[in-house]
Amino acid sequence: MIKWRKTPLNEITRNDILRRSKNESESSRRRYAKLKFYTSKDIQIDFSELYSYDSFVARMRVGDYTVIIAFEGAFQNFAQDTASIRKNQRKGWLKKINDTELKKILTNSISKSLDNEDLQVACSCPDFQYRFDYYLSRPDVDAKYGVKQNVEPEVRNVANNQGYVCKHLLAALYGKRWAIAAAKVWLQYIKHNIELTEEIIWDLR
Ligand SMILES: [Zn+2]
Repeated sequence: MIKWRKTPLNEITRNDILRRSKNESESSRRRYAKLKFYTSKDIQIDFSELYSYDSFVARMRVGDYTVIIAFEGAFQNFAQDTASIRKNQRKGWLKKINDTELKKILTNSISKSLDNEDLQVACSCPDFQYRFDYYLSRPDVDAKYGVKQNVEPEVRNVANNQGYVCKHLLAALYGKRWAIAAAKVWLQYIKHNIELTEEIIWDLR
């Protein structure tokens, strides 16, 4: 059964991140302009997080680095978007949805949460580590995924005027085409875990 873990402290959405980079400073605009050179590859989803907490943690390759984007609510969207198909059935309804339709529903569930929920993010690149990690880790923002950085930058981005994230995260958040790839990965997982998925949705009612 899913244990809800809503964290009220998270304060930034996908739009906040993109908007701030686009507008804040010359340096953030330069970073924003580079996002079109990158695409997201090799998507991995942490299914234990998703099936335990409705926390969607996606890891992907962008350029030479690994980006993590995490948010809640995708499972709840999935439950809502299948309500008319399930019609209060506990079991057996998932097998009746064909793969194309199921992929579409899952893409939509992921995409909706990505747009509406607060995000937690991380990137393995030095730019993220030295310019953004500390500010995203601060308790009033709490948008760093994983271990928080408590050491304030002394050289780079001292004024905190370069946006929220590195170009790799900007690229992954801007196009969000990886949501389709992520839906494909989730679809495969569901096919191997039909009863578990139905059981969780039954509990979510
Ligand atoms: Zn990066």
